[in-house]
Amino acid sequence: MKSKLSLFTLFAILCINSISAQTKIIKTDAEWKKILSPAEYQVLRKAGTERAFSGKYDHFYEKGTYYCAACGTPLFSSKNKFDSGSGWPSFDNHIGNNVGFNEDHRFGDTITEIICNICDGHLGHMFMDGPKKTTGKRYCVNSLALKFKKSQ
Ligand SMILES: [Zn+2]
Repeated sequence: MKSKLSLFTLFAILCINSISAQTKIIKTDAEWKKILSPAEYQVLRKAGTERAFSGKYDHFYEKGTYYCAACGTPLFSSKNKFDSGSGWPSFDNHIGNNVGFNEDHRFGDTITEIICNICDGHLGHMFMDGPKKTTGKRYCVNSLALKFKKSQ
């Protein structure tokens, strides 16, 4: 009986942990405007796109992690970054379940929008013309949607 109880407790803790790991961050537009710069707000909350070759992480190859600029969730690792020549930071994979995918019909053909799974912030798009040696995927991300932290 005792071991059954503790197993149940362990199971309950695991459930609570996995729920809290996916807890959404929901804010009003006014609240996001207070936190984000106007340019960040335009990309993250209004699905805008920064000008090609203008972003600070386009030609940037330090070792570390890229976090969501809105909510601080780790999204991409420098290990997955590559130079696509597109003018935007490009990755061949994302971290955990932290990136979500939506169909985007705004550009004629249906393309895949990528979002932060925690705050639903717009990050960019995913294309299937990435490095064939790894995933074949190209996560094309706005620098404005990211905050880089160097690995220790
Ligand atoms: Zn986020």
